[in-house]
Amino acid sequence: MSRTATMIALAATAVRVAVLSSALAAAALPARAEEVQTGMLMEGTPCATKYWIKSGEVEGPRLFVAGGMHGDEVAGYLAADRLVDWRITKGTLILVPRAHKMAIARGERAYPGNMNALFPGDAQGDLMHRLAAAIWALMRDSKPDLIVTLHESVGFYREEPDRYGQTLTYDFDALTPHMQAILDRVNPDITPEHDRFLVKVKPFEHCPTYEAYRWLKVPATSIETCRKLPLETRIRHQLMVLMACMDDLGMGYEPAGDLPRLSTAGAQLTPGEG
Ligand SMILES: [Zn+2]
Repeated sequence: MSRTATMIALAATAVRVAVLSSALAAAALPARAEEVQTGMLMEGTPCATKYWIKSGEVEGPRLFVAGGMHGDEVAGYLAADRLVDWRITKGTLILVPRAHKMAIARGERAYPGNMNALFPGDAQGDLMHRLAAAIWALMRDSKPDLIVTLHESVGFYREEPDRYGQTLTYDFDALTPHMQAILDRVNPDITPEHDRFLVKVKPFEHCPTYEAYRWLKVPATSIETCRKLPLETRIRHQLMVLMACMDDLGMGYEPAGDLPRLSTAGAQLTPGEG
């Protein structure tokens, strides 16, 4: 499919719904609407997957999040599933909770191929290249200020330098101050200290974070949790880092479930921020 045809298909499947806050309505305050747009990527193929664009009433920064780039990195896509229920009050969340559904269905890292290593994809190529191209098109056209993909590793980077667990991993040294600022927001709330996140710079050509910064000049990183931790802890850590990303960008949001805001929320940690 050409780029134009892809975008027409995206627009055709988009559905707009306004979600009113019942809590605010009950408190007799002016109701604020969150605009939620949904659509399908790769509709009509075995890779078909849903995406959400959630915009707060107040315009603001834009965050792109994709889970399930690898099918056996469970905490990433389960965290992304939960994000669907969060309310965005300022800025926009562009969310692809389960990017690679064929791999997720089999619980395999990469089936039938490692889509995560094929960016920016090829809209005329095989299924995996087309899936990468569809995600890339949404990533590019939704104009995010930050791109985050959700991954997992079998080991702690802190213990084994070849592993990725409990890191923000990205491709370019230039992003280190930005990524460290995000971790400074989340790490105080993570115990024990051993499980706190570290930055890891490891360039991978053709992975989405590399290509996003290379071609779109959008800062991009992967959240990597460690599979040695309990699943619920990993999901929580993924969501806590995402809160730190939203706080750093200056987005407004209301987490769902029993997740408290970070203790650093509202704090001015980065010089010039805000
Ligand atoms: Zn991965």
